[in-house]
Amino acid sequence: MTGQLITDAQNTWCPGCGNFAIEHALKDVILRLEAEGTPREQMVLVSGIGCHAKMADYLNINSFYSLHGRSVSFATGICMANPELKVICCVGDGDAYAEGIAHLLFAAKRNVNLTVLVHNNRVYGLTKGQFTPTSPGEYHSKSNPYDTGDIAFNPPELLLSAGCSFVARGYSRRGKELKELMYAGISHSGFSFIDILQICASYLDKTEEYDGKVYVPLDHNPEDFDAACRLVREYRYDDSGKIALGVIFRKERELFHVSAPLLQQEYADKKSFIMRFIDGRR
Ligand code: SF4
Repeated sequence: MTGQLITDAQNTWCPGCGNFAIEHALKDVILRLEAEGTPREQMVLVSGIGCHAKMADYLNINSFYSLHGRSVSFATGICMANPELKVICCVGDGDAYAEGIAHLLFAAKRNVNLTVLVHNNRVYGLTKGQFTPTSPGEYHSKSNPYDTGDIAFNPPELLLSAGCSFVARGYSRRGKELKELMYAGISHSGFSFIDILQICASYLDKTEEYDGKVYVPLDHNPEDFDAACRLVREYRYDDSGKIALGVIFRKERELFHVSAPLLQQEYADKKSFIMRFIDGRR
């Protein structure tokens, strides 16, 4: 697979959307991985449904548009079928933290070898701004003219609790750091999760707030789980606290396709496994 990484597909993101920055950061990381010897054919992009999902149209890479909330389970299947692939999952916050939350947490728990990039704009942008599990409690939209009465999920904290072996947070307006985080996440052996605070210019523009709150902690040790828990609790996806960016937690764990004995056995003879599976349904 060769050629430009940005396709000719007409781009329909709104002007000022944070998805542009995420797309270009991912493009640069793919080019870097290629230059270091990973063929583009060995990378697969899986997207869900939402504004973020157009990444599958805009990047010239093997990709799979999946169902709403199910991208992580499709990506898990791809990893299981061919553990040699680098599987990158682009998902939205409505996608991954609502319908898809169980898939996300279980893939982290199992340490499936894939990378999840959450375009966390904190609204359902494609369907005109309804609230998601990370919307601030005081957020109003046409579907909820009053406060949600809810508290927002703190996704990095949830993922730490699930046993995720790589947890990070980026910001769409800090492209240089975002690229480094994506590269580190994709290079990590195991499940890597990056919550990307993404500006939605049309429905929830948090530029001013994020610009004033984000920082990169200089003395944080990502191998220290307790320190990681303290760091993610500084910001609870409301008006409180500073917002730490960077790798929050990292730990080597056995990979799911290696630790599951049945799967190991099946990998030994994939063709015969597929034939037995088909025969069993005749
Ligand atoms: Fe981006 Fe929001 Fe427009 Fe969707 S609705 S393209 S997230 S600015």
